[in-house]
Amino acid sequence: MSRRPLVAANWKMHGSTASLQAYLEELVERAAASPAEIVICPPFTLLPLAVAIASGSSLAIGAQNCHWDDKGAFTGEIAAPMLAELGVTWAIVAHSERRGYFGETDQTAASRARAAQRAGLSVIFCLGETLPQREAGETLAVLDRQSAVLAGLDPARLVVAYEPVWAIGTGRNATASQAEEAHEFLRRRGADLLGRAAAERLRIVYGGSVKPENAAELLAEKDVDGALVGGASLDAGAFWSIILAAPGSGRGA
Ligand code: PEP
Repeated sequence: MSRRPLVAANWKMHGSTASLQAYLEELVERAAASPAEIVICPPFTLLPLAVAIASGSSLAIGAQNCHWDDKGAFTGEIAAPMLAELGVTWAIVAHSERRGYFGETDQTAASRARAAQRAGLSVIFCLGETLPQREAGETLAVLDRQSAVLAGLDPARLVVAYEPVWAIGTGRNATASQAEEAHEFLRRRGADLLGRAAAERLRIVYGGSVKPENAAELLAEKDVDGALVGGASLDAGAFWSIILAAPGSGRGA
């Protein structure tokens, strides 16, 4: 089964108009030669500029979150149709920082993902175990629980991001075999939840301290279909090196 790699940049709460402009102008030039699909997720305030600069290029722009209702009395929130109206085409949902700092649960995450897809957005749905859970041998049980909500989503507009919490922003990435074990499990789980054919097509990307130095080894694994990159995505050169580590053939769509 051929799956085109996807590499996404999660800028978190970083960036300015000037830094985004310089960054995207560099990437837009290079993106046409990319072996991977590229999604850039800056903070909400930079999305209109990102969409404008990326327009006509092969770069896609994503948000880092969205609300589960299409509108309503939710001060400070952003609805998926608002993002779609801007020209945003992706949303990250259930990032571990949302789960850890902002009370995201499996249920709220599922509702957000459904809302995003209802608005026509594609979803990068994040899941992964904490260090105590890994050390207690609970990794696959956690992934089993967190992935249950995928059953309600449209697999055609879904990417799953395996992001072990202990690897995010720590500089300590999962080994290639740890990543492959989790991804292989998630693909089997996906077959139960979404059907075998959809699970074969489903892209499962790895996130957690991906850098130019470790990207090739991680992305070479059979079930690792790309990367969700935080810290290293802030530098256009480093991010481009990670993109170039994606297998350019064999999985090409
Ligand atoms: C992330 O924010 O999803 C992430 C993986 O961060 P980092 O690459 O910095 O670990």
